[in-house]
Amino acid sequence: MLQVRGVKVRYSGAVLALQAVSLDVPSGAVVAVLGSNGAGKTTLLRSVSGTLADHGGAVDEGAIEFEGASLVGRSAAELAANGLVHVPEGRRVFTRLTVAENLRAGSFAVRDRARRAAAARRVHELFPVLHDRRDQRAGLLSGGQQQMLAIGRALMAGPRMLLIDEPSLGLAPQMVDRVGEVIKEINEQGTTVLLVEQNASMALSVASHAVVLTLGIVTLSGAAADLAADPSVRELYLGIRPETERGTPSGDTRSATAEAARVPAGTGARLGRWEL
Ligand code: ATP
Repeated sequence: MLQVRGVKVRYSGAVLALQAVSLDVPSGAVVAVLGSNGAGKTTLLRSVSGTLADHGGAVDEGAIEFEGASLVGRSAAELAANGLVHVPEGRRVFTRLTVAENLRAGSFAVRDRARRAAAARRVHELFPVLHDRRDQRAGLLSGGQQQMLAIGRALMAGPRMLLIDEPSLGLAPQMVDRVGEVIKEINEQGTTVLLVEQNASMALSVASHAVVLTLGIVTLSGAAADLAADPSVRELYLGIRPETERGTPSGDTRSATAEAARVPAGTGARLGRWEL
C-alpha cells in the first residue's frame, strides 16, 4: 500500500535526517518504526504525509508511493483527501475549540454526508468519552483523552491509512495500553497503520511488522514477533538484559543512545539487518 524507496531527507539543505530509507507497509498491516531520539522517525512520517516542507525539510532522493501513486511534493490536505492521514506527535488538538468542533475539523474535506456520519459513529463507538465531553473545550481533557481526540479527528477524514507519531508520549502506563488497544481495533476495522513509537513494548504488541531506525538508516526490519525476540531489540528497546532476562521492561527507547544502537550482525535469522 505504501512503499518508501531509498529516501534521503535533509533539513535546511544541510542536516541529513534520513540517509536511504526503504520500507513497505502492506494493506491491512500495522508497521511500527522504532528508534532512539533523533533517529529520524518523525522525519519519515513527515516525508510520507506531505508535511516535511513545513519544517524546512525536503526529500533529496528516493521515491514514496501510496497505492501506486507518487507522494513526493503533494500537500498534506491532498493526501488526506486521498485517504492518508497523519496524527502528529504532541496531540495537536485545538485546545480552545470544543471536542465536537475538533472532530468536525477532521471531516471538513469529506463532502459525502453519509461518509461523515459513518466516521462520526465509528469515533463515537471507539471513544465514548469524547461523545460524553463533546461540549467541553479540548484543552480541558486529560493527556490520554487528547490523544484519543487527535486519533478520533484523524478518523473523521475516513482514512485508509493512518500515520501515528508517538501516541504514547507522556501518557501513564494504563493509558499507553489503552492507546495500543485502540490502534489494534482501528486496524481490525480495516485501516492500515504506520506507527512511530519509542515505547517498543507497546508498538511490538500491536504491530505485524517493524523496523528499527538508527541515525537515519533502517538497521533492522522484520515481523514484529521476530523483532520482539531479537536479543539486541530486547536489550536496547525493551530493556531486558540477556544475562538476567529480568531487567526493567520500561519499553522506553529514549535511554538507548545512538552508539548503543549499533547492533551486532549475525543474530536474528529471519530479520533483515544492516550494519552501520
Ligand atoms: P524524536 O523521538 O526525538 O522526535 P525522531 O526519531 O523522531 O526523534 P527526528 O525528529 O525525525 O527524529 O529527527 C531526525 C534528525 O533531524 C535529528 O538530527 C533532528 O535534530 C533533525 N531535525 C528534525 N527536525 C528538524 C528541523 N525542523 N530542522 C532541522 N533539523 C531537524
